[in-house]
Amino acid sequence: MIRCISCNEEYDDDEIIYTCSKCGSILEVECDVEDIPRETFEGRRDNIWKYKEFLPVKYENRVSLDEGGTPFCKCDTIGDELGIDLYVKVEGSNPTGSFKDRGMSVGTTKAVDLGVDMVGCASTGNTSASLSAYAARAGLKCAVVLPDGKVALGKLAQAMFHGAKVFAIDGNFDDALETITQLALDGELYLLNSINPYRLEGQKTIGMEVVHDLGWQSPDRIILPVGNAGNISAIWKGITEFRDAGYIKDTPMMTGIQAVDSAPIANAVKAGSDEVIPVENPETIATAIRIGAPVSSLKAMRAIKESNGTAETVTDDEILDAQKYLARSEGIGVEPASAASIAGLRKLVENGVVDKGEKVVCIVTGHVLKDPNVAIDACEEPTKVSSDPNDIKSVIRNL
Ligand SMILES: *Cc1c(COP(=O)(O)O)cnc(C)c1O
Ligand SMILES: [Zn+2]
Repeated sequence: MIRCISCNEEYDDDEIIYTCSKCGSILEVECDVEDIPRETFEGRRDNIWKYKEFLPVKYENRVSLDEGGTPFCKCDTIGDELGIDLYVKVEGSNPTGSFKDRGMSVGTTKAVDLGVDMVGCASTGNTSASLSAYAARAGLKCAVVLPDGKVALGKLAQAMFHGAKVFAIDGNFDDALETITQLALDGELYLLNSINPYRLEGQKTIGMEVVHDLGWQSPDRIILPVGNAGNISAIWKGITEFRDAGYIKDTPMMTGIQAVDSAPIANAVKAGSDEVIPVENPETIATAIRIGAPVSSLKAMRAIKESNGTAETVTDDEILDAQKYLARSEGIGVEPASAASIAGLRKLVENGVVDKGEKVVCIVTGHVLKDPNVAIDACEEPTKVSSDPNDIKSVIRNL
Protein backbone atom coordinates (compact mmCIF):
# COMPACT_ATOMS: atom_id res chain seq x y z
CA MET A 1 0.00 0.00 0.00
CA ILE A 2 1.07 3.59 -0.71
CA ARG A 3 0.33 6.18 1.95
CA CYS A 4 0.49 9.97 2.14
CA ILE A 5 2.97 11.00 4.82
CA SER A 6 0.91 14.08 5.73
CA CYS A 7 -2.81 13.14 5.65
CA ASN A 8 -2.45 9.31 5.68
CA GLU A 9 -4.62 8.89 2.58
CA GLU A 10 -4.08 5.39 1.17
CA TYR A 11 -3.49 4.39 -2.42
CA ASP A 12 -3.37 1.05 -4.14
CA ASP A 13 0.02 -0.51 -4.97
CA ASP A 14 -0.65 -0.49 -8.70
CA GLU A 15 -1.81 3.08 -8.88
CA ILE A 16 0.71 5.28 -10.73
CA ILE A 17 0.83 8.27 -8.43
CA TYR A 18 3.66 10.54 -7.22
CA THR A 19 1.96 12.97 -4.82
CA CYS A 20 -1.18 12.78 -2.69
CA SER A 21 -4.22 13.75 -4.75
CA LYS A 22 -5.98 14.88 -1.58
CA CYS A 23 -3.39 17.17 -0.01
CA GLY A 24 -0.44 17.32 -2.45
CA SER A 25 2.13 15.94 -0.02
CA ILE A 26 4.63 13.16 -0.74
CA LEU A 27 4.00 9.43 -0.51
CA GLU A 28 5.57 6.44 1.17
CA VAL A 29 5.29 2.73 0.48
CA GLU A 30 4.09 0.81 3.49
CA CYS A 31 5.89 -2.45 3.83
CA ASP A 32 3.96 -5.21 5.61
CA VAL A 33 6.52 -7.68 6.79
CA GLU A 34 5.45 -10.79 8.66
CA ASP A 35 7.59 -12.16 11.47
CA ILE A 36 10.90 -12.93 9.82
CA PRO A 37 13.83 -14.00 11.98
CA ARG A 38 17.01 -12.14 11.08
CA GLU A 39 18.78 -15.45 10.45
CA THR A 40 16.70 -15.58 7.24
CA PHE A 41 19.21 -13.27 5.55
CA GLU A 42 22.32 -15.29 6.35
CA GLY A 43 23.91 -17.24 3.52
CA ARG A 44 22.12 -15.24 0.82
CA ARG A 45 24.04 -13.45 -1.90
CA ASP A 46 25.21 -10.05 -0.65
CA ASN A 47 23.08 -7.66 -2.69
CA ILE A 48 19.94 -5.63 -1.92
CA TRP A 49 17.67 -8.61 -2.72
CA LYS A 50 18.97 -10.42 0.32
CA TYR A 51 16.30 -8.38 2.14
CA LYS A 52 13.66 -9.23 -0.47
CA GLU A 53 10.94 -9.67 2.17
CA PHE A 54 11.31 -5.90 2.80
CA LEU A 55 11.22 -4.93 -0.90
CA PRO A 56 7.58 -4.41 -1.96
CA VAL A 57 7.88 -5.43 -5.62
CA LYS A 58 7.67 -8.79 -7.41
CA TYR A 59 10.94 -10.64 -6.76
CA GLU A 60 10.47 -12.76 -9.88
CA ASN A 61 10.39 -9.54 -12.00
CA ARG A 62 13.54 -8.10 -10.46
CA VAL A 63 15.83 -5.96 -12.56
CA SER A 64 19.21 -6.42 -10.94
CA LEU A 65 22.89 -5.81 -11.64
CA ASP A 66 23.88 -7.30 -8.28
CA GLU A 67 23.71 -3.87 -6.59
CA GLY A 68 24.26 -3.39 -2.86
CA GLY A 69 26.52 -5.36 -0.54
CA THR A 70 29.01 -2.51 -0.86
CA PRO A 71 32.34 -2.29 1.05
CA PHE A 72 32.14 -1.25 4.67
CA CYS A 73 35.61 0.02 5.55
CA LYS A 74 36.88 0.71 9.04
CA CYS A 75 38.92 3.89 8.66
CA ASP A 76 41.38 4.08 11.54
CA THR A 77 43.72 6.71 10.10
CA ILE A 78 40.99 9.35 9.95
CA GLY A 79 39.11 7.86 12.92
CA ASP A 80 42.16 8.05 15.21
CA GLU A 81 42.91 11.57 14.07
CA LEU A 82 39.38 12.68 14.95
CA GLY A 83 39.10 10.54 18.08
CA ILE A 84 36.15 8.51 16.85
CA ASP A 85 35.35 4.99 15.64
CA LEU A 86 34.86 5.55 11.90
CA TYR A 87 33.40 3.32 9.21
CA VAL A 88 32.91 4.35 5.60
CA LYS A 89 30.23 2.72 3.41
CA VAL A 90 31.54 2.88 -0.16
CA GLU A 91 28.51 3.31 -2.43
CA GLY A 92 30.75 4.08 -5.40
CA SER A 93 31.23 0.31 -5.64
CA ASN A 94 27.70 -0.18 -6.97
CA PRO A 95 27.32 -1.27 -10.63
CA THR A 96 27.14 2.25 -12.11
CA GLY A 97 29.18 3.84 -9.32
CA SER A 98 26.59 5.36 -6.98
CA PHE A 99 23.92 4.36 -4.46
CA LYS A 100 21.25 5.30 -7.02
CA ASP A 101 21.53 1.73 -8.32
CA ARG A 102 19.77 0.39 -5.22
CA GLY A 103 16.81 2.65 -5.89
CA MET A 104 16.78 2.06 -9.63
CA SER A 105 16.86 -1.72 -9.20
CA VAL A 106 13.63 -1.60 -7.18
CA GLY A 107 12.21 1.32 -9.20
CA THR A 108 12.63 -0.37 -12.59
CA THR A 109 11.31 -3.61 -11.10
CA LYS A 110 8.18 -1.68 -10.14
CA ALA A 111 8.03 -0.36 -13.71
CA VAL A 112 8.06 -3.96 -14.95
CA ASP A 113 5.40 -4.94 -12.37
CA LEU A 114 3.22 -2.10 -13.68
CA GLY A 115 3.82 -3.05 -17.32
CA VAL A 116 4.97 0.41 -18.46
CA ASP A 117 7.32 0.65 -21.45
CA MET A 118 9.00 4.01 -20.87
CA VAL A 119 10.80 5.43 -17.84
CA GLY A 120 12.38 8.83 -17.24
CA CYS A 121 14.05 11.12 -14.74
CA ALA A 122 15.62 14.50 -14.20
CA SER A 123 19.13 14.28 -12.87
CA THR A 124 22.23 16.04 -11.65
CA GLY A 125 23.97 13.04 -13.25
CA ASN A 126 23.97 9.83 -11.23
CA THR A 127 20.23 9.22 -11.37
CA SER A 128 20.38 9.31 -15.17
CA ALA A 129 23.52 7.16 -15.31
CA SER A 130 21.83 4.55 -13.17
CA LEU A 131 18.40 4.66 -14.79
CA SER A 132 19.90 4.44 -18.27
CA ALA A 133 21.68 1.20 -17.28
CA TYR A 134 18.72 -0.37 -15.47
CA ALA A 135 16.33 0.56 -18.28
CA ALA A 136 18.70 -1.16 -20.71
CA ARG A 137 18.77 -4.21 -18.44
CA ALA A 138 14.96 -4.29 -18.30
CA GLY A 139 14.40 -3.52 -21.99
CA LEU A 140 12.56 -0.26 -21.19
CA LYS A 141 12.76 2.97 -23.18
CA CYS A 142 14.34 5.80 -21.22
CA ALA A 143 14.39 9.62 -21.38
CA VAL A 144 16.45 11.84 -19.10
CA VAL A 145 16.52 15.62 -18.62
CA LEU A 146 19.73 17.23 -17.39
CA PRO A 147 20.86 20.78 -16.57
CA ASP A 148 22.96 21.73 -19.59
CA GLY A 149 26.68 21.98 -18.84
CA LYS A 150 26.30 21.06 -15.16
CA VAL A 151 26.65 17.30 -15.29
CA ALA A 152 29.98 15.67 -14.41
CA LEU A 153 31.69 14.00 -17.39
CA GLY A 154 31.58 10.39 -16.18
CA LYS A 155 27.87 10.54 -15.41
CA LEU A 156 27.00 12.07 -18.77
CA ALA A 157 29.05 9.40 -20.53
CA GLN A 158 27.12 6.67 -18.73
CA ALA A 159 23.67 8.11 -19.41
CA MET A 160 24.47 8.42 -23.11
CA PHE A 161 26.33 5.13 -23.48
CA HIS A 162 23.62 2.92 -21.96
CA GLY A 163 21.19 4.29 -24.53
CA ALA A 164 18.88 6.78 -22.81
CA LYS A 165 17.54 9.66 -24.89
CA VAL A 166 19.35 12.56 -23.22
CA PHE A 167 17.93 16.10 -23.13
CA ALA A 168 19.89 19.09 -21.81
CA ILE A 169 17.84 22.08 -20.67
CA ASP A 170 18.78 25.66 -20.01
CA GLY A 171 18.04 25.55 -16.27
CA ASN A 172 19.08 23.80 -13.07
CA PHE A 173 18.07 20.43 -11.60
CA ASP A 174 14.93 21.83 -10.00
CA ASP A 175 13.78 23.09 -13.43
CA ALA A 176 14.63 19.75 -15.05
CA LEU A 177 12.55 17.94 -12.45
CA GLU A 178 9.56 20.16 -13.15
CA THR A 179 9.81 19.39 -16.87
CA ILE A 180 10.05 15.61 -16.53
CA THR A 181 7.34 15.56 -13.84
CA GLN A 182 4.94 17.22 -16.25
CA LEU A 183 5.69 14.53 -18.83
CA ALA A 184 5.00 11.87 -16.19
CA LEU A 185 1.73 13.50 -15.15
CA ASP A 186 0.73 13.62 -18.82
CA GLY A 187 1.21 9.84 -18.91
CA GLU A 188 4.18 9.87 -21.27
CA LEU A 189 6.54 7.98 -18.97
CA TYR A 190 6.99 6.42 -15.53
CA LEU A 191 8.93 8.84 -13.33
CA LEU A 192 11.89 7.43 -11.43
CA ASN A 193 13.11 10.41 -9.46
CA SER A 194 13.11 9.93 -5.71
CA ILE A 195 9.64 11.45 -5.44
CA ASN A 196 8.69 7.95 -6.61
CA PRO A 197 8.53 6.15 -3.25
CA TYR A 198 9.68 2.82 -4.73
CA ARG A 199 13.13 4.33 -5.33
CA LEU A 200 13.52 4.86 -1.61
CA GLU A 201 12.52 1.25 -0.93
CA GLY A 202 15.70 0.20 -2.70
CA GLN A 203 17.86 2.82 -1.02
CA LYS A 204 16.67 1.91 2.47
CA THR A 205 18.89 -1.19 2.18
CA ILE A 206 21.90 1.05 2.93
CA GLY A 207 20.63 1.44 6.49
CA MET A 208 19.85 -2.27 6.70
CA GLU A 209 23.34 -3.25 5.54
CA VAL A 210 25.01 -0.87 7.98
CA VAL A 211 23.37 -2.41 11.06
CA HIS A 212 23.81 -5.93 9.64
CA ASP A 213 27.52 -5.26 8.93
CA LEU A 214 27.97 -4.05 12.51
CA GLY A 215 26.66 -7.39 13.79
CA TRP A 216 23.06 -6.24 14.32
CA GLN A 217 24.02 -3.06 16.09
CA SER A 218 23.28 0.53 15.34
CA PRO A 219 26.14 3.01 15.02
CA ASP A 220 25.80 6.17 17.10
CA ARG A 221 25.53 8.28 13.98
CA ILE A 222 25.16 8.07 10.20
CA ILE A 223 26.49 11.02 8.19
CA LEU A 224 25.68 11.58 4.52
CA PRO A 225 25.43 14.29 1.87
CA VAL A 226 21.93 15.62 1.26
CA GLY A 227 20.61 16.93 -2.06
CA ASN A 228 17.03 16.05 -2.89
CA ALA A 229 16.91 14.40 0.57
CA GLY A 230 15.61 11.03 -0.59
CA ASN A 231 18.56 9.04 0.66
CA ILE A 232 18.59 10.28 4.24
CA SER A 233 14.86 9.54 4.38
CA ALA A 234 15.34 6.10 2.86
CA ILE A 235 18.17 5.09 5.19
CA TRP A 236 16.09 6.12 8.19
CA LYS A 237 13.16 4.07 6.87
CA GLY A 238 15.39 1.00 6.58
CA ILE A 239 16.75 1.46 10.08
CA THR A 240 13.32 1.91 11.66
CA GLU A 241 11.91 -1.12 9.81
CA PHE A 242 14.73 -3.24 11.22
CA ARG A 243 14.15 -1.76 14.68
CA ASP A 244 10.42 -2.48 14.43
CA ALA A 245 11.21 -6.03 13.32
CA GLY A 246 13.21 -6.40 16.52
CA TYR A 247 16.62 -6.86 14.85
CA ILE A 248 18.21 -3.85 16.59
CA LYS A 249 17.32 -1.79 19.66
CA ASP A 250 19.04 1.56 19.22
CA THR A 251 18.98 3.84 16.20
CA PRO A 252 21.61 6.26 14.83
CA MET A 253 21.46 10.05 14.82
CA MET A 254 20.81 10.88 11.17
CA THR A 255 23.16 13.67 10.17
CA GLY A 256 22.81 15.42 6.82
CA ILE A 257 25.49 17.57 5.18
CA GLN A 258 24.80 20.20 2.52
CA ALA A 259 26.98 22.59 0.54
CA VAL A 260 26.73 26.05 2.02
CA ASP A 261 25.07 27.65 -1.03
CA SER A 262 22.67 24.73 -1.56
CA ALA A 263 21.56 24.18 2.00
CA PRO A 264 17.79 24.61 2.49
CA ILE A 265 17.54 21.72 4.95
CA ALA A 266 20.66 22.49 6.98
CA ASN A 267 19.56 26.14 7.15
CA ALA A 268 16.20 25.09 8.59
CA VAL A 269 17.75 22.71 11.11
CA LYS A 270 20.27 25.32 12.22
CA ALA A 271 17.52 27.92 12.59
CA GLY A 272 15.52 25.46 14.68
CA SER A 273 12.67 25.76 12.18
CA ASP A 274 10.47 23.07 10.60
CA GLU A 275 10.05 25.13 7.47
CA VAL A 276 12.44 24.37 4.61
CA ILE A 277 12.78 27.46 2.43
CA PRO A 278 13.98 26.66 -1.11
CA VAL A 279 17.27 28.19 -2.31
CA GLU A 280 16.72 30.04 -5.59
CA ASN A 281 20.06 29.58 -7.37
CA PRO A 282 21.89 26.72 -5.65
CA GLU A 283 25.64 26.56 -6.28
CA THR A 284 28.40 24.12 -5.39
CA ILE A 285 31.20 22.17 -7.03
CA ALA A 286 29.47 19.07 -5.63
CA THR A 287 26.98 18.90 -8.50
CA ALA A 288 25.14 15.85 -7.11
CA ILE A 289 23.85 17.98 -4.23
CA ARG A 290 23.36 21.19 -6.20
CA ILE A 291 19.63 21.25 -5.42
CA GLY A 292 17.60 24.17 -4.08
CA ALA A 293 14.16 22.64 -3.51
CA PRO A 294 14.55 19.13 -2.05
CA VAL A 295 11.55 16.97 -2.93
CA SER A 296 11.84 14.83 0.21
CA SER A 297 12.50 17.65 2.67
CA LEU A 298 9.47 16.73 4.79
CA LYS A 299 10.67 13.14 5.19
CA ALA A 300 14.24 14.27 5.81
CA MET A 301 13.25 16.77 8.50
CA ARG A 302 11.26 14.02 10.22
CA ALA A 303 14.19 11.61 10.03
CA ILE A 304 16.54 14.17 11.55
CA LYS A 305 14.09 15.07 14.30
CA GLU A 306 12.98 11.54 15.19
CA SER A 307 16.56 10.29 15.29
CA ASN A 308 17.79 13.22 17.36
CA GLY A 309 20.15 13.99 14.50
CA THR A 310 21.31 17.23 12.94
CA ALA A 311 22.49 18.92 9.75
CA GLU A 312 25.56 20.98 8.87
CA THR A 313 26.91 22.96 5.95
CA VAL A 314 30.37 22.80 4.36
CA THR A 315 32.12 25.01 1.83
CA ASP A 316 33.42 23.85 -1.55
CA ASP A 317 36.98 24.17 -0.27
CA GLU A 318 36.17 21.97 2.71
CA ILE A 319 34.59 19.43 0.36
CA LEU A 320 37.63 19.33 -1.96
CA ASP A 321 39.97 19.10 0.99
CA ALA A 322 38.02 16.19 2.49
CA GLN A 323 37.89 14.44 -0.90
CA LYS A 324 41.69 14.46 -1.09
CA TYR A 325 42.07 13.56 2.58
CA LEU A 326 39.91 10.44 2.19
CA ALA A 327 41.68 9.44 -1.02
CA ARG A 328 45.17 9.86 0.41
CA SER A 329 44.78 8.69 3.98
CA GLU A 330 42.39 5.76 3.39
CA GLY A 331 42.62 4.98 -0.33
CA ILE A 332 38.92 5.64 -0.93
CA GLY A 333 38.18 7.69 -4.05
CA VAL A 334 34.85 9.51 -4.06
CA GLU A 335 33.18 12.28 -6.02
CA PRO A 336 32.89 15.74 -4.43
CA ALA A 337 29.32 15.37 -3.10
CA SER A 338 30.30 12.20 -1.27
CA ALA A 339 33.21 13.95 0.42
CA ALA A 340 30.71 16.33 2.00
CA SER A 341 30.06 13.60 4.58
CA ILE A 342 33.74 13.56 5.62
CA ALA A 343 33.97 17.37 5.53
CA GLY A 344 30.84 17.55 7.67
CA LEU A 345 32.22 14.98 10.10
CA ARG A 346 35.40 17.03 10.56
CA LYS A 347 33.37 20.15 11.26
CA LEU A 348 31.02 18.43 13.70
CA VAL A 349 33.97 16.99 15.62
CA GLU A 350 35.55 20.46 15.79
CA ASN A 351 32.27 21.98 17.01
CA GLY A 352 31.92 19.28 19.67
CA VAL A 353 28.65 18.01 18.18
CA VAL A 354 30.20 14.60 17.52
CA ASP A 355 31.51 13.23 20.81
CA LYS A 356 34.90 11.59 21.23
CA GLY A 357 34.62 7.82 20.86
CA GLU A 358 31.38 7.94 18.87
CA LYS A 359 30.80 5.13 16.39
CA VAL A 360 30.19 7.00 13.15
CA VAL A 361 29.30 5.68 9.69
CA CYS A 362 29.92 8.03 6.77
CA ILE A 363 28.08 7.14 3.58
CA VAL A 364 30.21 8.03 0.56
CA THR A 365 27.71 8.10 -2.25
CA GLY A 366 29.56 8.05 -5.59
CA HIS A 367 32.87 7.07 -7.21
CA VAL A 368 35.79 9.44 -7.88
CA LEU A 369 35.69 8.59 -11.62
CA LYS A 370 32.25 10.17 -11.90
CA ASP A 371 33.86 13.60 -11.94
CA PRO A 372 37.36 13.15 -13.40
CA ASN A 373 37.77 16.87 -14.16
CA VAL A 374 37.55 17.82 -10.50
CA ALA A 375 40.02 15.06 -9.58
CA ILE A 376 42.54 16.12 -12.23
CA ASP A 377 42.24 19.81 -11.37
CA ALA A 378 43.08 18.98 -7.76
CA CYS A 379 46.42 17.41 -8.65
CA GLU A 380 49.83 18.26 -10.06
CA GLU A 381 50.42 17.30 -13.68
CA PRO A 382 52.43 14.11 -14.18
CA THR A 383 56.16 14.89 -14.08
CA LYS A 384 57.66 14.63 -17.56
CA VAL A 385 60.93 12.68 -17.61
CA SER A 386 63.11 10.88 -20.12
CA SER A 387 63.15 7.08 -20.14
CA ASP A 388 66.40 7.20 -18.16
CA PRO A 389 65.70 5.58 -14.73
CA ASN A 390 68.09 8.07 -13.12
CA ASP A 391 65.65 10.89 -13.85
CA ILE A 392 63.05 9.10 -11.78
CA LYS A 393 65.48 7.95 -9.10
CA SER A 394 66.47 11.51 -8.28
CA VAL A 395 62.82 12.38 -7.71
CA ILE A 396 61.59 9.37 -5.76
CA ARG A 397 64.51 9.49 -3.35
CA ASN A 398 63.17 12.83 -2.19
CA LEU A 399 59.52 11.74 -1.75
C1 LIG B 1 22.02 11.62 -5.55
C2 LIG B 1 23.29 11.85 -4.86
C3 LIG B 1 23.36 12.50 -3.62
C4 LIG B 1 22.16 13.12 -2.96
O1 LIG B 1 21.18 12.19 -2.55
P1 LIG B 1 19.70 12.71 -2.26
O2 LIG B 1 18.90 11.48 -2.08
O3 LIG B 1 19.28 13.49 -3.47
O4 LIG B 1 19.76 13.57 -1.05
C5 LIG B 1 24.59 12.61 -3.00
N1 LIG B 1 25.71 12.12 -3.57
C6 LIG B 1 25.68 11.51 -4.76
C7 LIG B 1 26.96 11.02 -5.34
C8 LIG B 1 24.49 11.35 -5.45
O5 LIG B 1 24.50 10.76 -6.64
ZN1 LIG C 1 -2.26 13.64 1.64
